[in-house]
Order: sequence, then C-alpha cells, then structure tokens
Amino acid sequence: MSREYDVIIIGAGPAGIFCALELAAHSSLSVLMVEKGREVAKRQCVKEASDACRQCQPCSITSGWGGAGAFSDGKLTLTTEFGGWLEEYVGKERLAELIAYVDAIYVRHGAPDRVFGEDSDYLEGLKRRAAQADLRLIPARIRHMGTENTERVLQGFRAALPARVEVHHNEAVQRILVEDGRAAGVLTEQGQYRAPRVVCAPGRIGAQWFVEEAGRLGLALRSNQVDVGVRVEVPAVVLEEITDHAWEAKIVYYSRHFDDTVRTFCMNPHGEVVMENTEGLVTVNGHSWAGKRSDNTNFALLVSQQFTEPFNQPILYGRSIACLANLLSGGVIVQRYGDLQRGRRSTRERIARGVVSPSLREAVPGDLSLVLPHRYMVDLKETIQALDRLAPGIASDHTLLYGVEVKFYSARPRLSAGLQTEIPGLYAIGDGAGVTRGLVQASVAGVLAARDILAEVG
Ligand SMILES: Cc1cc2nc3c(=O)[nH]c(=O)nc-3n(C[C@H](O)[C@H](O)[C@H](O)COP(=O)(O)OP(=O)(O)OC[C@H]3O[C@@H](n4cnc5c(N)ncnc54)[C@H](O)[C@@H]3O)c2cc1C
Repeated sequence: MSREYDVIIIGAGPAGIFCALELAAHSSLSVLMVEKGREVAKRQCVKEASDACRQCQPCSITSGWGGAGAFSDGKLTLTTEFGGWLEEYVGKERLAELIAYVDAIYVRHGAPDRVFGEDSDYLEGLKRRAAQADLRLIPARIRHMGTENTERVLQGFRAALPARVEVHHNEAVQRILVEDGRAAGVLTEQGQYRAPRVVCAPGRIGAQWFVEEAGRLGLALRSNQVDVGVRVEVPAVVLEEITDHAWEAKIVYYSRHFDDTVRTFCMNPHGEVVMENTEGLVTVNGHSWAGKRSDNTNFALLVSQQFTEPFNQPILYGRSIACLANLLSGGVIVQRYGDLQRGRRSTRERIARGVVSPSLREAVPGDLSLVLPHRYMVDLKETIQALDRLAPGIASDHTLLYGVEVKFYSARPRLSAGLQTEIPGLYAIGDGAGVTRGLVQASVAGVLAARDILAEVG
C-alpha cells in the first residue's frame, strides 16, 4: 500500500496533536497521523484489573491518542521556566505568547478556568522562606486539568480534526524515508506512505527509536541530561499550605557535597503514586484527580546529571539504574525515609505501622541505597533535610520514597527555529526530540512545526 499526503505526523501525543490542529485550522493540507498506540477510549491498562504490570507492547499508559499525557495529571505549566528548552529556539517573549496560545486551546476544549500560583504576595513570602532554607523557589502559574478532564480534552481535540486529517492507530513507523536529501514519507508494517513533510513527534517512549533513525539518516545529535531520583509521598497536610496556594512548588536545591542540581517536580496534592512502563522498564510517577482525593501528596525529587565527554549515553545510564530497581523488586521499591537514614531495608510490617499509607500498593519494600549511586543518595538526603525546613514533616521517618523515577530526555538534533532538522522537510518535535519535557511546551512545539510548514507552503 502506498498513499500520498502533504504532511505525515509520527506520534499522537500533545506535540503531534497540536501540529495537526494548527495545520487543520489554517490550511487544507492533507495530513496523516501514525500512532502506534490505541485511540484514547480504548487505552485501558490491564494492570488495573490484575494489580501487576503485564508489560504490554505498546503500553496503554504511555502510547496512544494523547501520548504520555493522556492519563497524566494534566498540569499545564504556564511559564517559560519549565517544561522544555524551546526558549533556545524562539526566545522567551515568543515562547510566552505561544504558551498563552496553546493554553487558550486547552481551555476551549474543556480545561478548567482556575489557574493556581497567581497569589504573588503569598509566593513572595514563600520565596523568602525557601531562601532561608537554602532553596530556590521558582513561582509558576499552573492550570490543573486532573486525569479525568485530560481524557475529555483529548477527545475534544480528536473531534475537532476534520476528515482530511487521517489518524492511523495501532501502527508503528519503522523508518523515515529520505530521498534526494529531503523527507519523502514513512514506512510502517502496513506499507509506505509518502509526503514531502514528515513531523517526528515520538515522545519519550519513541526516543530510542528516534536516536537510531537519526543515526541512520546521518543527523548529528547532542546528548541531553538525565534526571534520576525518587518519588516522595507525605501526608497531604505537610504540604497543604503550599499546594492550596500554588498547587505545586517548583523548588531547586544545589547540593553542598557535590554541587548537583536537585529539583522538585510534578507535585500531586491528594494524589497517588503510579508505575510507568517504558518498553519493559518499570519506573515511578504520580498524578492526582480533579474530583478524587487521597490523604497523601507526592512529588518527584530528581538529581540532574549532564555528562561530559567521552560518555554520551545518558538514556542508557538512567535505564541501567532503573534496571537495578527492577531486578531487586520486579518493579518499584518503596522505603521509609527513617529506614534509609538508619541503613536498613523497609519491610511490609514497618510500612504498615507508618503514618503514610502507600498509595502504590504494588511497590516492594526494600532498600534504595542498593540501587541509587552514593552521590544521588547524598544529594537526595540533603534536599529532603532542606525541604523539611520549608515544610516541616517532609524529613519524617514515615515519609515514603519510591524508586526509581527517571526522566530521560532524548538526544537533540540540530534544529531551526521552526524545529526543522538538517534534512529539509523533516521536523523533530516534543519530548522525543529532546526539546520539551511537559504538555505545554510539547504542544507549543507542534504549533511551531505547523507554522513553519504553513510558511513554506505559502
Ligand atoms: C504519568 C505521567 C504524568 C505526567 N504528567 C504531566 C503533567 O501533569 N504536566 C506536564 O506538563 N507533563 C506531564 N507529563 C509529561 C507529558 O505527558 C509529556 O511531556 C508530553 O506528553 C510529551 O508530548 P509528546 O507529544 O512529545 O510525546 P508523547 O506524549 O510521549 O507522545 C508520543 C506518541 O508517539 C507515539 N510513537 C512513538 N514512536 C512511534 C512510532 N515509531 N510510530 C508511531 N507512533 C509512535 C507514542 O505511542 C506516543 O503516543 C507526564 C507524563 C507521564 C508519563
């Protein structure tokens, strides 16, 4: 089978979806979206029924319409400071405009009106208290969709696309076709599809595939950092003052011992800790619902590592650490902070006696110091102590640490301001291209590629 289109988009995560929406809104170009996962209504994690990850390929949590964001917490971070590196391509001012543009589209499709983090007096006070605890607080405006709303918004995006945007689900792109030095289409297990413009938006789940394709096509790649750490779970009251005002606190700590950057990430008030399966590798994440509330709040604590020459395989490094946790526990390890401090593993009995009841029941009590390198352990302990000065209770013996949480950022190809690679007609956008790491900037990346295409075709 061979069919011709004006544009082919690989991946239907926020980057791919916003590219399609923008193209559809401003042109009559024919578009094919190829997505290896299912449509959103059919994305069902079988684990929910059996309580154990079945390692499905593709994983319904990370693949399908809506991409990795479909069952995400749906926190739209409305700031240029987080969520990606697009500022390097378009500058701060234009990025801020584009963030407002995509945010308005989310709201039009059902994202709630309320924005957290607009109480500047409170945030100034919190910033001062953070500084006294050796922490840097970065204020951010956040719109929280909640997992159930995110799905509704994604259905709305799908319904908004006209028939000239074809979506193929359950079909993986194997190869990007390049002929006479420019993009020519894609090859899937179903056949060949041709188009003079190919937008590659494979997300983190497709990062390794993208690296291999880029290598085959001769695109030079720049290694990105890898963030490795744990998910921290505390009673919601410990962080309530902050989460009520700001929803989440974006906090950075520079460790004394190693001068590493440690940051809080993805705070989920009254949320739950979840497992994430990236092509067989089980790591930890978290989310919260808009209407359902647990007694706990969780957030990630991540150490950022940018490797220098000659090492250039940060993804493999992160995977190797996560593999160790998988080896020891079959998935995710949970440990009480008190046990970690005392150099002993946690047990089911000690956790059951604890103040914090684990929201991820499948996590296996164990010892994270057998998994994370010494440097990471020191960084994380120092940060927990500093955070405790801002929100007393974080360094409690009962605080639960789940490991490991890893954020892989794909290697980045050289890109123009319109996110076009050195191969004319081939675009690389979103988390899979290493230029974003959140819903909002991934969506902005889609708009940028679409506008570049629209400018080229006139
Ligand atoms: C549990 C969880 C919670 C999160 N919570 C938040 C949050 O609250 N706020 C936030 O800003 N961000 C959050 N994120 C991150 C956010 O989801 C991502 O940054 C965002 O989805 C990236 O968008 P993307 O389009 O680049 O990639 P993705 O969303 O990963 O989409 C890529 C798509 O491409 C498909 N694909 C890959 N390779 C191929 C191929 N070869 N052929 C065909 N299809 C392919 C994949 O199946 C996938 O559906 C969360 C992520 C997770 C996993």
